[in-house]
Amino acid sequence: MKVAVEGCCHGELDKIYETIAFLERKEGVKVDLLLCCGDFQAVRNEADMKCMAVPQKYRQMQTFYKYYSGEKKAPVLTIFVGGNHEASNHMQELPYGGWVAPNIYYLGYAGVVRYRGVRIGGLSGIFKSHDYRKGHFECPPYDQQTVRSAYHVRNIEVFKLKQIRQPMDIFLSHDWPRGIYHYGNKSQLLKRKSFLRDEVKKNSLGSPAAAELLQHLQPAYWFSAHLHVKFAAYVQHQAQKDLLPRATKFLSLDKCLPHRDFLQIVDIEQDPSASDRLEYDPEWLSILKNTAGLVNTTARTWNMPENNGLFSRWDYSASESDLKEVQSDLGGDLRVPENFSSTAPHYDPNNPQLQREPTYAVNPQTTELCACLGLTDPN
Ligand code: 5GP
Ligand code: MN
Repeated sequence: MKVAVEGCCHGELDKIYETIAFLERKEGVKVDLLLCCGDFQAVRNEADMKCMAVPQKYRQMQTFYKYYSGEKKAPVLTIFVGGNHEASNHMQELPYGGWVAPNIYYLGYAGVVRYRGVRIGGLSGIFKSHDYRKGHFECPPYDQQTVRSAYHVRNIEVFKLKQIRQPMDIFLSHDWPRGIYHYGNKSQLLKRKSFLRDEVKKNSLGSPAAAELLQHLQPAYWFSAHLHVKFAAYVQHQAQKDLLPRATKFLSLDKCLPHRDFLQIVDIEQDPSASDRLEYDPEWLSILKNTAGLVNTTARTWNMPENNGLFSRWDYSASESDLKEVQSDLGGDLRVPENFSSTAPHYDPNNPQLQREPTYAVNPQTTELCACLGLTDPN
């Protein structure tokens, strides 16, 4: 299938879908799926804008609200992770992922889904060491600090993703895995972005959490954004016991601006017998169930079971019986229900002066998934 990959979206859905339509006409292809690597800006209204960390000049409504209100419909299934410019109150309604508009699916803080048999995982946010070991404690309305910490990656999400044992086809992150620049054309990268030279030299650029996941998951493809530059890399992983050595094709794209490399179409092998609908991933749902008791909704720091001595159990991976149980929880139907529902008023361009304050809404999609799997809504 043809998968379009987008770097940073910055709320430019109209432009992205127009570009896809243009490429489809020009190349005579049909794009089956769009993957967005963060800074998505799913801003529904004026209140959401206050929940997004962004300089004043970028504090604009953009185009997402049209897809939220139903004025427009995403012409292609769109899957995204969060970055560092998000309406974090909106994202926080969907910690385990869900529809932010018809045909537009957010993967959650971390998540894995399947489309046409292709397994797609992702991690939202960016890495900042000072928040990594905290819980998801933020709650709108945010202050100057929490409007930022809300999108910082947490160790619990990485711990969950490290319980995955089955192979991953595609993985998405906003910031780059630390060290990935050593596996591509580094001199060209540094020619374009000379201010990164020191960090590249010291190997301090990029997310150590994402690097750990790259090493653990060894996905066939890894797509990122954030550094506003196109960069490709190829990582040949060490052979693991009983397994053939795997390799990862890494691609990072620019932000959505004219004459920039913000979109690329990648050909990915699909399973012709697989469903044409977005599906849940049984192994991932099993891991969510197994880790449901690991909860920290405070700003207190905590370590994961493997290094805190508090849990006798370290392995939260999915057993055969866990996988069967998830199938039965879902009534044998892995398709993600098309249960988008609006939880906030949408922006009205005829009434642009309206002031709204952020409120927190319980999203029925989260309630439904939690009830089905016995999870708790961390909010
Ligand atoms: P954003 O669009 O997320 O606000 O910012 C992305 C910009 O910040 C890009 O131009 C990128 O080059 C820069 N940037 C992001 N992370 C880093 C980093 O770790 N080090 C440096 N030097 N620049 C960064
Ligand atoms: Mn960014």
